[in-house]
Amino acid sequence: MRRNRNAKIIATLGPASSTKQVITKLFEAGADVFRLNFSHGTHGDHQSRFNIIRELEEKSGRPIGILLDLQGPKLRVGNIEGGGARLEAGAAFRLDLSEEPGNSRRAPLPHPEIFAALQPKTDLLVDDGRIHLRVTGCGRDFAETKVVTGGVLSDHKGVNVPSAVLNVSSLTEKDREDLRFGLELGVDWVALSFVQRPGDVAEARKLIAGRAAIMVKLEKPTAIDHLYEIVDLADAVMVARGDLGVEVPPEDVPGLQKRIVRSCRYAGKPVVIATQMLDSMVHAPTPTRAEASDVATAVYDGADAVMLSAESATGDYPVESVSMLNRIIGRVERDPLYRRIMDADHREPEATAEDAITAAARQVAHTISAAAIVTFTSTGSTTFRAARERPDVPILGLTPNPATARRMALTWGVHPMLTEDLHSFAEMVSNSVGVACMEGFASSGERLVVTAGVPFGTPGATNILRIAWVE
Ligand code: PGA
Ligand code: MN
Repeated sequence: MRRNRNAKIIATLGPASSTKQVITKLFEAGADVFRLNFSHGTHGDHQSRFNIIRELEEKSGRPIGILLDLQGPKLRVGNIEGGGARLEAGAAFRLDLSEEPGNSRRAPLPHPEIFAALQPKTDLLVDDGRIHLRVTGCGRDFAETKVVTGGVLSDHKGVNVPSAVLNVSSLTEKDREDLRFGLELGVDWVALSFVQRPGDVAEARKLIAGRAAIMVKLEKPTAIDHLYEIVDLADAVMVARGDLGVEVPPEDVPGLQKRIVRSCRYAGKPVVIATQMLDSMVHAPTPTRAEASDVATAVYDGADAVMLSAESATGDYPVESVSMLNRIIGRVERDPLYRRIMDADHREPEATAEDAITAAARQVAHTISAAAIVTFTSTGSTTFRAARERPDVPILGLTPNPATARRMALTWGVHPMLTEDLHSFAEMVSNSVGVACMEGFASSGERLVVTAGVPFGTPGATNILRIAWVE
């Protein structure tokens, strides 16, 4: 089964999408990677979703990526009676350390470090800035506030304090437990939330020790100050516009998004655009024109993936939301202007054998109108470099390593596939042709551009390019 698009789709799973039936429909509608959001749900919930995805993968024969998203030092309110309460503008509202469920007059905020950093007049933004509170008085374990902008406050909504510097580690105790649990399950990607400095990524990498690839979520202005270093240390990056757009003014977000996408494309690291992509589809069967345009912009910019959060996790139209992304991506990628933009933004290869080969593969594939580029890879590295070229033909990422195949599900233009180790040139050609035909990428009389490394079976040595005929 092949998808006819380059940009990938990440769907967050939640209460609206936890059954085998719905997850299967999301996959069939176009989801390439599923996100398990550890800010919500129990380990049992995530385990059950994980098992359903792996079962689906087995049945479909397609590698599916699983992204564990750690909550990070996100400040969140606790439980609210009945799941939600309305806060009226002008009213007094208290936050404290008590575990009593909240109501319209107070709520639990289980973070002593936040109370330590507050002062009268500090602004607190709740639920991505929808609710605005201003501190009127505070102590070691509470804050009295005035509601500036009201709204419905529901369970576990996030709290941002843009003006305060909070002395918190990027991996909380909960994150470390969630990470242990997720790595044990065998997730493919781990997303780090609220990264502030390059050291945060290095610390996580030590803990993860190669068992999963690392996606850094850019949602703090301090992380943007170290953009190049962080992109360099990450395996992929997420433009986490929800929190980013609370921490910086909304008018700053589009420019930052472009800058981050460019940096990642330059570095050859997958970049994901996330949050509110089809927000109105949480409750409506169609998106606004502005949302369709926002998704299209991400695709025209050459992002690797677009992501759904509430739309697929808790919304009324999870499957329709994935279908809508699929339709918008397909439509953009068929626009001749899209190809012209990709070519105009083409990056020069770096001075490595791998880049020399993958840049040549793009050129050769274009010149001979090849049906696809076939890359043999063990770590995925060559295939990621081939994707950096943004070629005008699909890339097949063939690997004997299931973890690599699943990681590549996130990457622009790549159709990952599990294959056996190679032993000879003849096998390289016959495997390429066999997979390309079976998966619907090539047919008789067409040509493929194949890259691999010899001697076969030594990872990290892509050094050959070959044109193969499909007989
Ligand atoms: P979240 O991250 O959904 O975990 O908050 C994404 C974002 O902030 O945009
Ligand atoms: Mn966030």
